[in-house]
Amino acid sequence: MDPKTLDQLIDAVSRPAGLCFADGLAVLDPQKTSLLTCLSAAGHFREKHFARTVTVHILNNVQNGLCPEDCRYCAQSRSSSAPIETYPMKPAAEILAEAKAAYEQGAHRYCMVFSGTGPSDSRIETISRIVEDIKARYPIEVCVSPGVITEAHARTLKAAGLDRLNHNLNTTERFYSAICSTHSYQDRVATLQAAKKAGLAVCSGVIIGMGETEHDVVEMALRLREFQAESIPVNFYIPLPGAAIKTASGLTPEYCLRVLCLFRLINPQAEIRMAAGRELHLRSLEALGLYAANSLFLQGYLNARGTADTRTLQMIKDAGFTILSEVPLDQLLSGQPAVEKQALKTLNELRPCNLS
Ligand code: SF4
Repeated sequence: MDPKTLDQLIDAVSRPAGLCFADGLAVLDPQKTSLLTCLSAAGHFREKHFARTVTVHILNNVQNGLCPEDCRYCAQSRSSSAPIETYPMKPAAEILAEAKAAYEQGAHRYCMVFSGTGPSDSRIETISRIVEDIKARYPIEVCVSPGVITEAHARTLKAAGLDRLNHNLNTTERFYSAICSTHSYQDRVATLQAAKKAGLAVCSGVIIGMGETEHDVVEMALRLREFQAESIPVNFYIPLPGAAIKTASGLTPEYCLRVLCLFRLINPQAEIRMAAGRELHLRSLEALGLYAANSLFLQGYLNARGTADTRTLQMIKDAGFTILSEVPLDQLLSGQPAVEKQALKTLNELRPCNLS
């Protein structure tokens, strides 16, 4: 079969039913679709729905570690021996101060992430008061990742002004038992359904590189289309020391780009985020990810460091994009130290083998 053309791919995405499973597999296959065709098609829909904007998110790990679940990819899980810093929920004043800082650093969205299975009723009340306080003080979107919640919890959060609820699917139903044994895929689906019923926008993402197949990857993108997830963080697995899953499987920069294109083409209107692991796995091709994704995190991930903010912001600018923020991109860049000093080489660098 001849490789897919750009027009064929755009037509396939534009059909009422959207991109089908077979075409999704073709996007991941270099024999069936060239990388530039994938990026051009993804870029077409990215520009159509988001123009040249990039949405910046900043995560706040408001409670770290001490989790009874055994998610094998997670440094906070009971199956992990990663030497992370653990703490219970931060005081509200600390969370509010960090929301202010995120706003001033150009974040469009501030994401509060909790470790643990899920919150109690009183914890939901506490989170709701914090959401109200943030929304009253700063023009910033707020997202909470609380773990498993009920529809009543979701309605309380919605009434407090929460914009979005995060709960990742992470992988497929078929593969779920390989990454976690203490809760099921269906538990995760139920939380997403509760959030949708309460009228919350949903952020639900995946982790690529944990040993799943390409069929699984296409299946994840299709499931998130069924859920009409407004936001999809695509994480590329970072094997932190001590985590139960020791290595990232099959992640080359080209494959990661194809995955981002796949999620864009199956979910053309969703906010697609190149999330954790973008630096590690996209490497020198990272800027090309912006042609499929319209969103990223600054300041790293839950327990893993990311690249310096300056480098990320400069990459956005260099690739011809801008950020969706009250604070202009140039203003943020002018307040940051230069990425690299333009300095003359020293004599030692010029003559590293000099014996005289
Ligand atoms: S992903 Fe969440 S529920 Fe799973 S171990 Fe980590 S903190 Fe706990």
